[in-house]
Amino acid sequence: MDLTFSPADEAFRLTARKWLADNVPADRAPYEGQASRDFALAWLARCNEGGWAGIAWPEAYGGRGLPPERLVIWYEEYVRSRAPSVLDCTFVALNHAGPTLIACGNEEQKAFHLPRILSGNSVWCQGFSEPGSGSDLASLSTTAVIDGDELVVNGQKIWTSYADIADYQELLVRTEKGSKRHQGLSWVICDMKAPGITVRPIRNMAGVSHFAEVFYDDVRIPLTNVVGALNDGWRVAMTTLGFERKTAAIGLQLELSVRVEDLILLAQAQPGSAMAERLAELRAETAALRAMTYRTLFRQPATTFDGSLVRLRFAELSQAIHQIAMDILGPDGLVDSHWTHDYLEAYSETIAGGTAEIQRNIIAERILGLPRE
Ligand SMILES: Cc1cc2nc3c(=O)[nH]c(=O)nc-3n(C[C@H](O)[C@H](O)[C@H](O)COP(=O)(O)OP(=O)(O)OC[C@H]3O[C@@H](n4cnc5c(N)ncnc54)[C@H](O)[C@@H]3O)c2cc1C
Repeated sequence: MDLTFSPADEAFRLTARKWLADNVPADRAPYEGQASRDFALAWLARCNEGGWAGIAWPEAYGGRGLPPERLVIWYEEYVRSRAPSVLDCTFVALNHAGPTLIACGNEEQKAFHLPRILSGNSVWCQGFSEPGSGSDLASLSTTAVIDGDELVVNGQKIWTSYADIADYQELLVRTEKGSKRHQGLSWVICDMKAPGITVRPIRNMAGVSHFAEVFYDDVRIPLTNVVGALNDGWRVAMTTLGFERKTAAIGLQLELSVRVEDLILLAQAQPGSAMAERLAELRAETAALRAMTYRTLFRQPATTFDGSLVRLRFAELSQAIHQIAMDILGPDGLVDSHWTHDYLEAYSETIAGGTAEIQRNIIAERILGLPRE
């Protein structure tokens, strides 16, 4: 794998760096609620005006159709400039709902939703997990029954990030009565303002409500909102998860190396902190993660399950970095700071997007070829 960038790539880097230097907001993003939505959408709108929103999306849908090496350069510069975290309320729309519509939606769905996403005019959330159907997603039981030209949805989702501030949801429901597992599911666009939807935010141990329970009580959704074919939702959902597990996370993974550099500065400012060896190890580990991320992106033919290796390494490394931040801060870590907040949030890294145990199962069975449990 050759990681040398061409002179044209380096010119692209300088353009990105300059734009970011001129445009990255000075303020930190609010953690939750309407203020976080306003901040994230304003930032996305600014990126879009500058031609930097959805840069990997095809040009026909408002993107720039940039290849992976340009994507990598953009994210390297993005995290270096300390731009707002990519994991905000625009993440689902930009990184998996939009790409899923591009891959599986019809032209009406694309024409309506894609411009709204890129211009910072709609927030999406993901309604896949249910109580009892997280790792085992195929066991989900929220139902949708056809009534005329509408679906009528009843059931419950849980852990739906940004449900309280979302306009639309990628909703996975069981549309075929009596169907089992992967059969009989449909992926539908749900308007979060539809009558019959109740959103009940869940407060996490960092004290903020990013996710929520969502209840559906006779919620009517037009059949035209089904993406892909009716009862073909598992295929569409796997497309969504493919995006979620691959390109979507590049920014997050690269962000860790910036975190380590910030930690080194933090340690230098703390008299008596003897962390040099651990910090050097972390710097090496984040460099290794970056190399794994690039290999996943550039390897041909692409292998589906490499994403689990990177995802697992990212999650465990993120937790280690934030643990060391607490060790450096000592008692100061007990007061409210962004390090404390991020330390508490990092616990969820080995759960969200597939738990560490599930990633290990995938690595064992699909990469190492070990027998199924
Ligand atoms: C911060 C955060 C944001 C999230 N956002 C969303 C969202 O926006 N939309 C959405 O749909 N979901 C979301 N989720 C839910 C997430 O996808 C699930 O939490 C995850 O898939 C695990 O499912 P579960 O919580 O039901 O745990 P379970 O599947 O019940 O697992 C419980 C425990 O059993 C273990 N386990 C389960 N099965 C196996 C097995 N076969 N082998 C070994 N161990 C096993 C797990 O590793 C875990 O330790 C979010 C979660 C978090 C933490």
